[in-house]
Amino acid sequence: MQFSLPKNTNISIHPIKSFTDNYIWMIKKNKDAVIIDPGDASPVLEILQKENIHLQTILITHKHADHIGGVKELIKAYPNVKICGPKNNFNFVCKEVDNGDLVVIDVLNISFRVIATPGHTLDHIVFADENHLFCGDTIFGCGCGRLFEGTFSQMHTSLNILSKLPRSIKIFCAHEYTKKNIEFALMIEKNNEALIARKKSLIGVDITLPSTLSEELKTNPFLRSKNLAQFKERRIRKDNF
Ligand SMILES: [Zn+2]
Repeated sequence: MQFSLPKNTNISIHPIKSFTDNYIWMIKKNKDAVIIDPGDASPVLEILQKENIHLQTILITHKHADHIGGVKELIKAYPNVKICGPKNNFNFVCKEVDNGDLVVIDVLNISFRVIATPGHTLDHIVFADENHLFCGDTIFGCGCGRLFEGTFSQMHTSLNILSKLPRSIKIFCAHEYTKKNIEFALMIEKNNEALIARKKSLIGVDITLPSTLSEELKTNPFLRSKNLAQFKERRIRKDNF
């Protein structure tokens, strides 16, 4: 990894469910919060208001509507909220960040390193500290994002970069796809014991995230691809699964 990762203390992280399978992640410290990828404002506003938490910053991983659709309404409710995201033509004021940048969130006294992960979209970025990776639609539990804009090579490279983060890092994906992805992964590696164990461990579990990089390296067929050709073959197979 060419960048150092900041260490953040005294934060807690909570999933806010939206749409059918999206997670909007909330980072909380005392009574202040950072929200990642608010595709929908209403479930976010509900929890902020119920717990009397002030929204300080919104982080955006990429341009898709199910990640940014709630931003404008959140600005109305919290006019001073700061927004950080990739370079794009968003229809709201957004501080553009790029690979290697450090996002500092003053009020919470925390910061995150930005890592560019083109593939799912070309603008896709992720936010990491030593212990947490907010990876948007780049990695899913036992899977990875579809390629809407990037090439197989770009996504493969992005996954390789994330694979070099600390093994213990917790991975906060933006969708709940793990169980379905495990079915696909078992088709690829039916004798993978870690995968079989992961499937068993999730029986009856509603929220399967965060996972860890270590767990993904043992079970995720895309992080386990030996080379670009194998990654490409698996990604195409998954698109038709
Ligand atoms: Zn997306």
